[in-house]
Amino acid sequence: MKKVLKWIGIIILVLVAAGTTLFLIYVRPFMQKMKETSTINYDKNLTLVLGGGGNSGILTSDSLVIVIDTKMDDAAEQLSKMVKELAGNKPILVVNTHYHPDHSKGNSYYKGQTIIAGGNYTKEFWVKEAGEETLPTQWLKDRMDIKMGDDTVTLLNLARNVHTQSDVVVYLHKRKMLFAGDVILNKQAPVLMGVADPDGYMEAFELLPKKFDIQKIVPGHGPVGGIEVLDQFRQYFNDMKMAASDASKKEELIAKYKDWNQIPFLMSPEASVSAFKKKLKHE
Ligand SMILES: [Zn+2]
Repeated sequence: MKKVLKWIGIIILVLVAAGTTLFLIYVRPFMQKMKETSTINYDKNLTLVLGGGGNSGILTSDSLVIVIDTKMDDAAEQLSKMVKELAGNKPILVVNTHYHPDHSKGNSYYKGQTIIAGGNYTKEFWVKEAGEETLPTQWLKDRMDIKMGDDTVTLLNLARNVHTQSDVVVYLHKRKMLFAGDVILNKQAPVLMGVADPDGYMEAFELLPKKFDIQKIVPGHGPVGGIEVLDQFRQYFNDMKMAASDASKKEELIAKYKDWNQIPFLMSPEASVSAFKKKLKHE
C-alpha cells in the first residue's frame, strides 16, 4: 500500500512539473504575446487592429461603423475607445466571427448597439460559454449584405462546424478583403479539439475562394496577407491529413511547420495529426 502511494505521489509530482513547464515555456509567453496590438490605418475608412486577442477591423461610412471582433482584456477597452471616437453619433454594428472570448469578450463595451453572430449558436449556448454580458442581439442565419460608402460588406455564416458551430466571415467587395476569423490563421497551428472539424476547414478553403474574389486576408490571428495565407493554411491541413495516414512521412511533414506559433498538445502539428487520425478512425 505504502509503495503504491509513493508511486502515485511521484506520478502526480511528474505531472505537475510537466504541466508547470508547459505553462511557463509555451502558454505564458503565448498569452503575453497575444496581448500586444498593432494598428494599421489601411485607408480613409478602414482601420485594422491586430492582436490583443483576435484581429479586428473598424470600417466607417457616413451612416454606420462596423467592428469585426471585439478582443479581450485591455485591448478590448482600447479598441472600444477607438471605435467610439470614430463613430461619434453614428450607430455601431459589431460582428463576431465566433463566440470565443479573444474575439467577443469586448462586446460588453457596446451596450445598446447591434451585435451579430452566427445563427447556429443558441442564446443558451452563448450565455453558458461566453457569458450573458457579451450576448449578441442578432443571429445571422445565412448572409447579409450591407452598403458601406462605396463598398459592400457581406457577412456570411458558414453554418457548419469549422472552427466552431457557426463561424462568420466578413468580405469587403471593393477592397477584395476577407476577415476570416479563426477559419484561417497566419503561421499559427489551429486548435482542432471539441467541435472543430478538420473536414469543415477543408470545405471552407474550397468554398471561400469560389464565393469571393479574395486578394487580402485578415486572419483570426497573425499578420495580414494575400491569398497565400489561405494557400499555406490549406497546405497545412493537407500535410497533417497525409501525416495521419502515412506514418513514414509524419516527421518530415511536421518539421515543415516548426516556425509556426504553437503550444504542444493543444495547438501544434502533432495535435493536428492526432485530430486527423481520430477522424480517419471514424470513417
Ligand atoms: Zn481566436
